[in-house]
Amino acid sequence: MLKAYKTEINPINKQKIIIHKTIGVCRYVYNFYLAHNKEIYEKEKKFVSGMDFSKWLNNEFIPRNQEYSWIKEVSSKSVKQSIMNADRAFKRFFKHESEFPRFKKKNKSDVKMYFVKTDAKVIIPCERHRIKIPTLGWVRLKEKGYIPTNKIIKSGMVSYKAGRYYVSVLIEENDINQTTLDKEGIGIDLGLKDFAICSNGLIKKNINKTQQLIKLEKQLKREQRKLSRKYESLKQRNKKLKGEAARQNIFKQKLKVQKLHQRIENIRTDYINKIVNEIVKIKPSYITIEDLNIKGMMKNRHLSKAVASQKFYEFRTKLEVKCKELGIELRIVDRWYSSSKICHQCGSIKKDLKLSDRVYICDKCGYTRDRDYNASLNLRDAKTYKIA
Ligand SMILES: [Zn+2]
Repeated sequence: MLKAYKTEINPINKQKIIIHKTIGVCRYVYNFYLAHNKEIYEKEKKFVSGMDFSKWLNNEFIPRNQEYSWIKEVSSKSVKQSIMNADRAFKRFFKHESEFPRFKKKNKSDVKMYFVKTDAKVIIPCERHRIKIPTLGWVRLKEKGYIPTNKIIKSGMVSYKAGRYYVSVLIEENDINQTTLDKEGIGIDLGLKDFAICSNGLIKKNINKTQQLIKLEKQLKREQRKLSRKYESLKQRNKKLKGEAARQNIFKQKLKVQKLHQRIENIRTDYINKIVNEIVKIKPSYITIEDLNIKGMMKNRHLSKAVASQKFYEFRTKLEVKCKELGIELRIVDRWYSSSKICHQCGSIKKDLKLSDRVYICDKCGYTRDRDYNASLNLRDAKTYKIA
């Protein structure tokens, strides 16, 4: 079921200009289409569909009349939507459900700026205090938290009335998922030793440490060495000996390396997908993860390969999409929050915790737990976080 939410926004001047320009162009095109159809209707009692008009406008009219190219300066989705609104008005008229559509007058009519989710993978991001609208960017919301931040926005529009600006969005409400979500949230500690340690006890190992991947990586290195040797020998040979055969040989070897590389990548991606599905299947009411400093970690020569091979970024992106779909709140904790250093029992902080300390032992209360499991519990119970 789709539910609509309308609330006031607080755009900056630059955004106001874009909104007014878009609304102005939409009104112009709406009226243009009406006038065009009126003429045809009076002559032949027919009408041109919105689809055909839109095609004609973009492919014939504007290219031939460059003085109208300003129509293309605003969101084409908005323009298309205003044409389709007029199209519906015509259809109602032809079914005798309404009068002949009227022209929209400046300042009086309800012309809006539409935006839609164009792609299943694209998300219209919305946070408690702001929403990211295509062509406008982040726009501040006056009433914080009114639009749900853990659901997918299907489409929306921006409107203007009496000096105020509004956004209304359509959101897929999934009541079934909402009610069946487990009350308990989950904290996930991501790492290099294991991929993920969850506060509910679930442990996902680092796939790069499995026999299968270690073997494949070795094989890849071997084939890469072979390839570079082949390049070297090609360089050293006399010109007359550089034959087609040698080139073919290199090409084959290159293909072998690429295939092996792809196979390894596929195994890693499948693993990420599996973990994401397994975690959201638990249907926790929220999931908390750390905002990993992936860029910083990649700068560390010793860690960068291990970090890249774990695909943390891909994991985070996929988890975010799934959480939005299912209405699970994804909480992101600041990377300065020392989830590993806090004692989950008494809250004291162990400043001298080393990376090599695999077991957390609290100096104050004696609490003893696996280091990463302790971190996952702290993440689950974190009070300060950002919602993805
Ligand atoms: Zn303690």
